[in-house]
Amino acid sequence: MALRLVLRLISEIANRQQKWIEPMLSLTVDFYVRLFIRVHEGAKPCHESIGKYSQVFQCLECEAHYLHPYGLHTFEETTFDKEGKKSKRHVVTKKPEASKGDEDEEEAKTSTRERYQLPKFRIPHQCTVCDGPLIMGGPIWNDPIYNIDFVKRLLASTRLNAEGENGHKVKTTERIQAILSAVIDESVLSGTPLSYEFSHIVSTLKAVNPRKGQILAAFNSLGYLVAQTYYDPKLFKTNAPPEVVYDIFKAWKNHISGGDPKKVLLNIAEGSLAQRIIQRDPA
Ligand SMILES: [Zn+2]
Repeated sequence: MALRLVLRLISEIANRQQKWIEPMLSLTVDFYVRLFIRVHEGAKPCHESIGKYSQVFQCLECEAHYLHPYGLHTFEETTFDKEGKKSKRHVVTKKPEASKGDEDEEEAKTSTRERYQLPKFRIPHQCTVCDGPLIMGGPIWNDPIYNIDFVKRLLASTRLNAEGENGHKVKTTERIQAILSAVIDESVLSGTPLSYEFSHIVSTLKAVNPRKGQILAAFNSLGYLVAQTYYDPKLFKTNAPPEVVYDIFKAWKNHISGGDPKKVLLNIAEGSLAQRIIQRDPA
């Protein structure tokens, strides 16, 4: 989260000068952050920054967190029929590509207008996993913190260096390569800013840790992505909502307890956080 707090601040300062930033590689290494950023000129892209900042709402009692973006960058596409009358209008969050339609569609015209909107506030008033109170943090940078093509080129370059073909040898090549490879592995969830420490969830539920393969299979079977973060093997990112994350670990606890409700609640105190989480209905 430290990286994203700093990136948001740099972006805001750049925007004041009619510049915008493109993070190429952002790393948390040991106890400091290291950011490689390209700074571009241009007032118009500065407007897009509003969609790259989010406020974070974190549960005080469990790992659940929620993001509220500052703004939405949308595209309103209007299609006109052959007589020039508006026939269709819809709003999307990704820039529409030019259509390659049949002859009739070629005669129809389409115009696209960019819009910046305030998003509806969809943050719950209390945690959806344990009913605990939420605290507000941020704002953070919610956009990807690296340019994955750049990272892949950098990794290829370090491999050349390791072989001495560039005439340079870096002593920490192996460590750099391990970090860059982990960044590439994590990039399937580059649009997901924050992570979960699954071992905390397992500990709260008084269960034993599942194997990594079992975790990945559980999320994938529900259609969600999950990836280990490059900066800490204990932390995982997922695009599943918090309730689903906890439902998976509740199902795991039920599985290892043989489906016996008494065993599921064994050694769990009345009114405790674990009991509140377990007894809450699945999402
Ligand atoms: Zn909670």
